[in-house]
Amino acid sequence: MLKEGETGVKDGPGGPALLEESKSAGVPLEGGRSDGEPAPGAGGLPSEVPSRPGGGWLRRLLGRVWSSPPGSPSPDTPAPEPGSPLPVVEFRHVSKVFGEGTRQESVALRDINFCIQDVPGRGEFICIIGPSGCGKSTLLNLIAGFSTHLPPTTGEMYVYGQPITGPGRDRGMIFQKYSSYPHRTVLRNVTFGLEMHRRELGLSRREMDDWAREWIHRVHLDGNERKYPHELSGGMQQRVAIARTLALKPRIILMDEPFSALDEPTRYDMQDLIVELWQEQQATVFMVTHSIAEACYLGDRVWIFSPAPGTIAKEIRDLPLPTEPALVQQSRPEFEEVVREVTREFQRIVTEKLLEQKRAQ
Ligand code: ADP
Repeated sequence: MLKEGETGVKDGPGGPALLEESKSAGVPLEGGRSDGEPAPGAGGLPSEVPSRPGGGWLRRLLGRVWSSPPGSPSPDTPAPEPGSPLPVVEFRHVSKVFGEGTRQESVALRDINFCIQDVPGRGEFICIIGPSGCGKSTLLNLIAGFSTHLPPTTGEMYVYGQPITGPGRDRGMIFQKYSSYPHRTVLRNVTFGLEMHRRELGLSRREMDDWAREWIHRVHLDGNERKYPHELSGGMQQRVAIARTLALKPRIILMDEPFSALDEPTRYDMQDLIVELWQEQQATVFMVTHSIAEACYLGDRVWIFSPAPGTIAKEIRDLPLPTEPALVQQSRPEFEEVVREVTREFQRIVTEKLLEQKRAQ
């Protein structure tokens, strides 16, 4: 049932860039980073107003803003058309070595090659699993264009055909935690990215608030607009982070273990939410997770990384579509068998690599 995919694509084009937060930075910085780069979550421009019954007034109100192509007014971000023939993300022979030439040298990634094409009207969901320290977060941070990780040690990286030289609004990142501004209400957390781009979007405060309320509704947090993050559960806080990121309609969504701090039932709820929202967003998603079941449920593809230095050891496709609620589908014997199969493959890759490393010593 498992089929090996193609990750070693060597040719093809590839474009740009996000509001940034280092995982180690903990609480995001208000108003952008001290180095002048923007803050988390504001990784893209909305291209359309989400539809829901009664949402026509909002569509009219914001139509002028969201009729512009996604990511368009950024000088460093060409406007990729949905269904663009350019690959969404392309990596060619990308390696990343930290502390090169020092005693702390660490090869995080080695010779990463892939080419993700746009799937018009749908997008694609790529889940990344692998042992701790094998470079999964490094890969996301490189795609995000974070200054802590650029440039790669070798290789070329493109988003929509443009070299990745920094963050851009076409990319949005959702972290495991610490992704809300503690001194801002839910509403103000969600308007954050809009405020940063307020001038170019030409939005009034009222319009930003209306749009943020729409997103608060979409992540099922109605009634919590005036609360502060510390008044919310972990799952609710992640919903805020998701709303803030998706309100800017990034074409590429990067998620770094977004649910790993949550309890099991909340995790299933969040997986259901992601399925619901992703189908509307039609974005390309890269999600790091340590849950193989989560990867099999959400992913169109699962990449298994080898132990460090990280490489894409295997790509698995033909995974079951998330057609039922997460808890229901993941309890089915046929789904459990898929998870067992992927787990066996994961274990095989890790064991082989460790034995290889032992023999080389
Ligand atoms: P994973 O997400 O798979 O757990 P990471 O990508 O976080 O792995 O890290 C891969 C390797 O790169 C680790 O050895 C880690 O210590 C190192 N590393 C990651 N980020 C940095 C950094 N900013 N500076 C130095 N080393 C780093």
